[in-house]
Amino acid sequence: VAKRDGGNRVRMFRQEMGEQALARQRDRTDLRAAIEGGELVVHYQPIVDLATSAVAGAEALVRWQRPGVGLLGPDAFIGLAEETGLIVPLGEKVLQAASEQAVRWHAEGRCLGVTVNVSTRELATPGFLPRLERVITTAGLAPSRLTIEVTESVWADEPAMRTLVSVRDAGIRVALDDFGTGYSSLSYLQRYPFDVVKIDRSFTGALGRNGRTEGVIRCIIALADVLGAKTVAEGIETPEQADWLRDAGCSYAQGYLFGRPADAASWHAHSSAASPGW
Ligand code: C2E
Ligand code: MG
Ligand code: MG
Ligand code: MG
Repeated sequence: VAKRDGGNRVRMFRQEMGEQALARQRDRTDLRAAIEGGELVVHYQPIVDLATSAVAGAEALVRWQRPGVGLLGPDAFIGLAEETGLIVPLGEKVLQAASEQAVRWHAEGRCLGVTVNVSTRELATPGFLPRLERVITTAGLAPSRLTIEVTESVWADEPAMRTLVSVRDAGIRVALDDFGTGYSSLSYLQRYPFDVVKIDRSFTGALGRNGRTEGVIRCIIALADVLGAKTVAEGIETPEQADWLRDAGCSYAQGYLFGRPADAASWHAHSSAASPGW
């Protein structure tokens, strides 16, 4: 009996695996079609200068308007895109949309820098920088108005790291995203300078709740300062958090308090900085 049951379970397991593989295959086909067919939507979240409360820049965050499903956040498909290599055409679409949007804002008199998330996998793909330069040149965006955001996983990838150095040499700014959650190494930080350090939401979210957090955040700000980098605090949801970070010397902040990610059409309400130090 046990053997027969076991056999059934194996068969059911195989069937489920088959279904999962099919679903993945379909997701992959759908994602490829979505990238080519314009189903990706880019939302923008304001980056606010804490000293003046003016909007200094915008982070581009991708969404997938998937027919019959709805608006999907990046956590639902970035992993698949990275595994399948679709992250390369996906990243290029986001970069193109964000560059064109920054140029449009500029034409409207809004001097906003734009930041785009780039996966380590993308950076490690040969030809990344020439493709990036072609996209921003076509859009008419000056390299200095673009920042790319990478995570600490970049340290573990030699080709990605090399690309990052040439990206910076090309006048494009580099931000270290989700700082403090990955493999931070002081020796890497010292060897490869970054323009911006983004303090992860797990730190700012613990303000007032964990006694050690204040000290840790102060250290991150001091470290960024020594390295000549600006700081952006992520996930700011309350005025108390914003006030504390401003007093602690953090330059910029991002979070629901200032604005949720939204499509460019809903951006008219944001007042922008007269001169972005960003
Ligand atoms: P991230 O770059 O660290 O982006 C910040 C995430 O925090 C965004 O989630 C944003 O919506 C969310 N967030 C912002 N303010 C708050 C807040 O006050 N409270 C809370 N609870 N959350 C806040 P989202 O849009 O779901 O993006 C998730 C991640 O997906 C991003 O994290 C980024 O790593 C990745 N991602 C987004 N767009 C792209 C892209 O075009 N390419 C690549 N490679 N990755 C992307
Ligand atoms: Mg980011
Ligand atoms: Mg982040
Ligand atoms: Mg993240």
